[in-house]
Amino acid sequence: MTTLQDNLQAVQSRIAAACLACGRNPGEVTLLAVSKTFGADAVQEVASCGQQDFGENYIQEGVDKITFLQSSSHTKTPLIWHCIGPIQSNKTKYVAEFFSWAHTVDRLKIAQRLNDQRPANLPPLSVCLQVNIDGGATKSGVAPEEVLELAKQVAQLPRLTLRGLMTIPDPVEGFEAQVAPHTKARALFDEVRDELNLPHFDTLSMGMTSDLEAAIHAGSTMVRVGTAIFGGRL
Ligand SMILES: *Cc1c(COP(=O)(O)O)cnc(C)c1O
Repeated sequence: MTTLQDNLQAVQSRIAAACLACGRNPGEVTLLAVSKTFGADAVQEVASCGQQDFGENYIQEGVDKITFLQSSSHTKTPLIWHCIGPIQSNKTKYVAEFFSWAHTVDRLKIAQRLNDQRPANLPPLSVCLQVNIDGGATKSGVAPEEVLELAKQVAQLPRLTLRGLMTIPDPVEGFEAQVAPHTKARALFDEVRDELNLPHFDTLSMGMTSDLEAAIHAGSTMVRVGTAIFGGRL
């Protein structure tokens, strides 16, 4: 067995154990393999173990991998690509054309551009609103008190499907400290879901290599894991 296979299985076991510990069904948590900085060959190897969802931060790098892997039958099942990095206005076209998901929508202008640029032959782009859940001044993400209003507006856009919220809390040590911002995100998610009653609002994208257990404990439905699968980035 190769290292990537081992790593993937270890992460799947961590997810299963975290779900078991808090009485959740592991089927409620999707693993997003974050392949940024790693090559198409590594993606292919992880995909051959059955992993379907992959996340990229840098849009051009993501587009290159996506087009390469789509170009012939490099993978058995089609992969689902998620943009999890910052989206500048001049990059929305590439996100709209090549990705299935965008997790980092934090203003209406970007949502409108993604909507306008989503090709007619593709299903609507799934989007999450990125929330600056712990209030870091330099971080991207909409402020928690502005999420509901932005969600209402994004939900009107016909070529987007509003799927949920995404957060990247600052790294902290200790389970309880990690759980705190995730619990705040969960409460906000529940509030938006109950208020807007949208048919596909089902995704809380939070938790990474170092805090996925805490995120699952708080209610994450999608963990984004890079290092624990692909190894350390240079
Ligand atoms: C890099 C990255 C991840 C994965 O982080 P790891 O700690 O390597 O698991 C998850 N989400 C986002 C937004 C990232 O940029």
